[in-house]
Amino acid sequence: MKKAIRHPPITKCPHILHGGDYNPEQWLTWKDTIWPEDMRLAKLAGVNSLTVGIFSWAALEPSEETYQFAWLDEVMDMLAENGMTAVLATPSGARPAWLSEKYPEVLRVNRNRSKNLHGERHNHCLTSPVYREKVTRINTLLAERYRDHPALGLWHVSNEYGGECHCPLCQARFREWLKNRYKTLDALNAAWWTSFWSHTYTSWEQIESPSELGDTNLHGLNLSWRRFTSDQFIDFYLCETAPLKKITPAVPCTTNLMGPYMGIDSFKLAKVMDVISWDNYPNWHGTDQDAAWEGMHISFNQDMNRGFKDKPFLMMESSPSATNWQPTAKLRRPGVHTLQSLQAIAHGSDSVQYFQFRKGRGASEKFHGAVVDHEGTENTRVFRDVAELGARLKTMDPIVGCSTPAGVALIFDWENAWALGDARGFLQQNTAYDRTVIEHYSAFWKQAVPVDIIESTRSFEGYDIIVAPMLYMLRRDDAGICVAEKIAEFVKNGGTFVATYISGYVDEDDLAFSGGFPGPLREVLGIWAEEIDSLYPEDRNSFIWKDKNYAVHEFCELVHPRGAEVLAKYGSDFYAGRGALTVNKYGKGSAYFMAARTYTDFLDDFYRDLVDRRGIKRVIEAPLPPGVTAQVRSDGKKEYVFVMNFSPVPAGVDTGFAGKKELAPWEVLVLEREQR
Ligand SMILES: [Zn+2]
Repeated sequence: MKKAIRHPPITKCPHILHGGDYNPEQWLTWKDTIWPEDMRLAKLAGVNSLTVGIFSWAALEPSEETYQFAWLDEVMDMLAENGMTAVLATPSGARPAWLSEKYPEVLRVNRNRSKNLHGERHNHCLTSPVYREKVTRINTLLAERYRDHPALGLWHVSNEYGGECHCPLCQARFREWLKNRYKTLDALNAAWWTSFWSHTYTSWEQIESPSELGDTNLHGLNLSWRRFTSDQFIDFYLCETAPLKKITPAVPCTTNLMGPYMGIDSFKLAKVMDVISWDNYPNWHGTDQDAAWEGMHISFNQDMNRGFKDKPFLMMESSPSATNWQPTAKLRRPGVHTLQSLQAIAHGSDSVQYFQFRKGRGASEKFHGAVVDHEGTENTRVFRDVAELGARLKTMDPIVGCSTPAGVALIFDWENAWALGDARGFLQQNTAYDRTVIEHYSAFWKQAVPVDIIESTRSFEGYDIIVAPMLYMLRRDDAGICVAEKIAEFVKNGGTFVATYISGYVDEDDLAFSGGFPGPLREVLGIWAEEIDSLYPEDRNSFIWKDKNYAVHEFCELVHPRGAEVLAKYGSDFYAGRGALTVNKYGKGSAYFMAARTYTDFLDDFYRDLVDRRGIKRVIEAPLPPGVTAQVRSDGKKEYVFVMNFSPVPAGVDTGFAGKKELAPWEVLVLEREQR
């Protein structure tokens, strides 16, 4: 179990940040009435922080090298006068029309090699020297102007980085990146297995980014392009933050991530960020999934954001009511706003921030949820929900900076996901890496066991259990150590490791391991996985474990024990009687292998048994009703226990330390106790 500690506050504000995106430039014409009213309403709602400037470039630089900062000066002063922390954005997420018109190289080129027109947002070329120069200039001016401003608390760099660019500048940069990685064409040809379909390259200039008009089947190319694009975002982030770091070294920088967005390796980007922040848009009340599933799914995302730096983070955006881009913009039920907000804090967020504070009157976000509706007053249900939460957050200062002591780590790895997503075979597009990881996570969530989400190359120190569903790619860390070696060391020293079907198939170049699967994990797992059977949707197999029968579906891997003990055997088909679940004693620890994809009934039972045997503490020891979880934050002296009901029905919970509690639908209780 990792030790609980208190981290320093993320910004100079010692409170839970409460507020979010504010677009005063949309109300410049009415600033004398709307802006003061916004401040009155913000204070009434318990808002202590507003994020400004995200899409303000055209308002700040209406024509090239002509700047107007007066309105932003006024906004920053207004925030300071009202005791608010300004999260100040750099404007690169959307550019003025004059910039695209004069410098068309900034326009992105798509996979089909068509060039975008000006418009939308999040669509600049990542390489363009002109765009980088213009961004550096405006960021420098912002930093110089507000370096000593009392409101400035945090830099919000750009907005929701994503997408990719295939323009000639990016192609040239990609080839440089490849030369740096592979050094020689021979090495690249070998790593990409280019003798396949006569794909051997004889000059660097022949290499083009993946496209449906060209190549999509060379996995080494696809993986390299993913890595390159991700690295380009990191490089762009560093370009953006260079002037901020130089001029305002004491002000932390962040950029708002998008949960498990696959376009950027967020673990890698996190290494250059001071603070993690992310945008959270759950689909509560969906028709195709129940609220408990969404509760687990969002808890997983929150834990993952904490895991990026193993520290408290910020929930930079969330909707205080309906979300305009979801297929059905269903209203939040009473209580759900508080539940969603405190769920973030339960998992390590030190903020509840919204998109958006006031609804604009035009364009596509005019009906996206906001603290202040078009009606314009505090007399709305949503405003009252936000204000009620704001009052509750004011009592939570002691939670700021508290850590999450976890004894279990679950591996979720971007590079693994990229390679697995490319693999042809298995269930084609339905191999479902993320769903599988969340199903394993859910078994811990249901029994109130805190979990850290880590990438495969992260240190395993402090953990009792490491779970790695479908760790298809075994790659090396920056020191050149393969994850398989780290896993073997972890188990040898007494750790418990759990692996599943489709593990240890390829190396970091996406080349299949010779000598049998699961590649370099064979020894620690004590098995050889000879074949894998992919099942049709209606197919089932089964196994019996601890006298209970469990159905399996989708994947049945056929393993030979090579030292491992068989704990459960397949019940039918030509492989009936062969091992479906194994354990291998290795050094002082154990390594389990789930050869088949089960349903969550097995995962729940298996991990409950494992948690008991490893003596991992649950936040609440008594079994919890469906849809209820408990999570904890701690400073090492005091624990703050969040009991959350993600269901539309009341739930009775025996907390143990605080007696029995009855939770209303969607209710959250925050309880305190001394560190156990
Ligand atoms: Zn480009």
